[in-house]
Amino acid sequence: MKWTNTVVPTLRDNPQEAEIPSHQLMLRAGLLRKLAGGLYTFMPLGFKALRKVEQIVREEMDAAGALEVLMPALQPKEIWEQSGRYEKMSKAMYSVIDRQGREMELGPTHEEVITDLVSREISSYKQMPVTFYQIQTKFRDEIRPRFGLMRAKEFIMKDAYSFDASWDEADSSYQKMYDAYIRIFERCGLVVKPVEADAGDMGGNWSHEFMVLADSGEDGIVECSACSYAANSERATFKYVEAKQYDDAEKNLEEVHTPAAKTIKEVAEFLKCEERRLIKTLIYTADDKPVAVLLPGDREINETKLGHLLDANEFKLADDASVETVTGAAVGFAGPIGLDVPIYADVSLKGVAGAYTGANKTDYHYSNVNLERDANVEKYEDLCLATSGDSCPECGAALNECRGIEVGHVFKLGDKYCKSFNAKFLDQNGKEQVITMGCYGIGVTRTLQAIIEQSHDENGIIWPMSVAPYVVDIVVVNPKHEESMTLALQLEKQLEADGIDTIVDDRKDRAGVKFKDADLLGFPIRVVIGQRSLDNGNVELKIRNQEDSKLIEVDKILLKLKEIYRS
Ligand code: ATP
Ligand code: MG
Repeated sequence: MKWTNTVVPTLRDNPQEAEIPSHQLMLRAGLLRKLAGGLYTFMPLGFKALRKVEQIVREEMDAAGALEVLMPALQPKEIWEQSGRYEKMSKAMYSVIDRQGREMELGPTHEEVITDLVSREISSYKQMPVTFYQIQTKFRDEIRPRFGLMRAKEFIMKDAYSFDASWDEADSSYQKMYDAYIRIFERCGLVVKPVEADAGDMGGNWSHEFMVLADSGEDGIVECSACSYAANSERATFKYVEAKQYDDAEKNLEEVHTPAAKTIKEVAEFLKCEERRLIKTLIYTADDKPVAVLLPGDREINETKLGHLLDANEFKLADDASVETVTGAAVGFAGPIGLDVPIYADVSLKGVAGAYTGANKTDYHYSNVNLERDANVEKYEDLCLATSGDSCPECGAALNECRGIEVGHVFKLGDKYCKSFNAKFLDQNGKEQVITMGCYGIGVTRTLQAIIEQSHDENGIIWPMSVAPYVVDIVVVNPKHEESMTLALQLEKQLEADGIDTIVDDRKDRAGVKFKDADLLGFPIRVVIGQRSLDNGNVELKIRNQEDSKLIEVDKILLKLKEIYRS
């Protein structure tokens, strides 16, 4: 491809709207253009790279035996009601009304569609195991679209769904997809970390996310400094420190005047005790009903864990007015004693005594709190966020926190959707059973940008060979010099014939401009054809992520390029 025959609208400066390197680079390199927030056009070179990622995904899905299909993006509302997810998902779905007045959803995901299909097409154990996949545009009305392709309103996902005759067989389908994901990301040149993920109401260790470690990542990860334990912060557990009896457990409750001390820190300072000795009381509303949640004063709530416990369509931290109504006191003095709402406490509070907590009375706290004696706790559950320094749940060593970009997700669903869609089969004994399902997603567009987030320097992108829009960039210093152009076009033809995508920079610009763009675009290999070196029978070769360039004899360059490509 000649540069002058394609469109590569590079920019000199970072666009203001882009906050993270990969987003800046995709715009600057002319790979992407914004239509509106969360909506992007892939320019020719961006699209070429995207197609390569897609192809790797497709090849590995095929190799794993998954069958490619294409489902409608437009989905009738009824299937979302059938699965019972309509309430929870409707805010995130773009709905449209057709001319008959029927509501349809632009698919954010396809569990419903595929399970509906399978309930009609699969009826015997002989038809399983089977895994379907598609590569298709998804639509999500995200609360906060940002970072370009990372969190878009419209994006390309590879979604796969496995169907098995038993829980054990579903394990093997899950493992196959897990292994395929490892290969996919490796082939994309990405270093990923599989982490345990929140498995929703499935419980157990049935969900893994594939994370690209990056400071700009939206997901928190907790990993062990000694063993292989790693989990999304939403899911991470730790060996909790057991509740303490700070004082004689039998001492009577006492009101303590704590004027103007509201936050945990202020109260702890005022009472001259460690923060942990305070019982933090958070008031939430779950489907508009108030609940109280108790944590040790020095810990933060894990809202994912809380969400499972509450099992509500919607829950949120109560606003100040509701807190005041529930507690009868100003914000900052809530406590579980005498509170007439369901109370849930973190496991590490079981048995705590001699603690402090808010007295539901402005400017007062209680001392000598013996939680089991004084409050009506409905349930003790693991509700805290794990943080750096906590003990690994598996080996006890210290945990560390880092951040990651979720590029893929594998999930064992069990009978969750198959039950609601009545997807059953006859087993070997002629007995009717519910099909066991798994689902597996890769954010294809997010993966493309994550590759850049992980592989760039101050000059631009550094594409891995496998996904570079063009592998070789032949820079012709003077395109009017006939011999240079002839050699460039001949090389291009030979390389393309060997499946090596090549671009010939035949622009009239100064060599410096072309070199800058070559670095910005991140082509893995650059060949410079200059008049002077050509007179000596040489061209210049430079690898994007190496410092020096080398002179190579014209006769040897083709072989050399093929060799580098293959290695
Ligand atoms: P996230 O937690 O990042 O919102 P998710 O849990 O909603 O992701 P899934 O429903 O599991 O994601 O979707 C599968 C994959 O699709 C994700 O692993 C991610 O790579 C990608 N993805 C999800 N939402 C978006 C989005 N808004 N823009 C781009 N890619 C996305
Ligand atoms: Mg999401």
